[in-house]
Amino acid sequence: MRIDILTVLPKLLESPFDHSILKRAQNKGLVEVNVHDIRDYASDKHKSVDDYVYGGGAGMVLMIEPIANCINKLKSKTEYDEVIYMSPDGELLDQKLSNQYSLSINLLILCGHYKGIDERIREHFITKEISIGDYVLSGGELAAAVFCDSIMRLIPGVISDETSALTDSFQDNLLAPPVYTRPANYEGHEVPPVLLSGHQAEIDKWRQEQAQARTAERRPKLDNLK
Ligand code: SAH
Repeated sequence: MRIDILTVLPKLLESPFDHSILKRAQNKGLVEVNVHDIRDYASDKHKSVDDYVYGGGAGMVLMIEPIANCINKLKSKTEYDEVIYMSPDGELLDQKLSNQYSLSINLLILCGHYKGIDERIREHFITKEISIGDYVLSGGELAAAVFCDSIMRLIPGVISDETSALTDSFQDNLLAPPVYTRPANYEGHEVPPVLLSGHQAEIDKWRQEQAQARTAERRPKLDNLK
């Protein structure tokens, strides 16, 4: 998979992709992530990327021209499955959407900032808009990092134990069961004995029951998605 991310604040995206699983995915050659600074595509001598909002009002808006220049250049070399804009009014991200996008070959992701981006970008360049939740962030960078993390960890080979992502919450419309590690007894707080029993069938049964109980209690609507 190749992911191109467009931003006016590339530094915000450095750390998330430079550690842990997202770093490993790139080191293994399974995902190539390229971060593009929209400012490099500004045409005036001040390298302007934002301007006042037409009609008046507070906040700056990302201009159409630098973004269009950057998208056009990338599209001349690569065919994208989707040109995504991270946006609070986009489709809400969930595991189903992450599973779907984990199969992509090339993705272009645009991060807005300030008041947002000139609407004409959305009308003429964007093919998909994704929100990570009903709240407003200062910029699309953290949202893009969340989206990329959720899809990259699903690519076969990214997580060493391939089944591990499949046993996470939401994959089967169930929340994950509780997990424990050593010590078996911490100041009187004990690990459920079945997990120490060595009976795999019993352990699997316990985990399934816990997952179902937790889902019924915390996300009863998940079951309806089946
Ligand atoms: N004025 C806009 C919010 C702009 S926030 C509005 O009221 O809808 C600035 C940028 O942060 C947006 O352009 C978008 O790229 C990003 N962003 C903010 N909240 C987001 C969310 N919940 N999901 C995805 N991106 C978000």
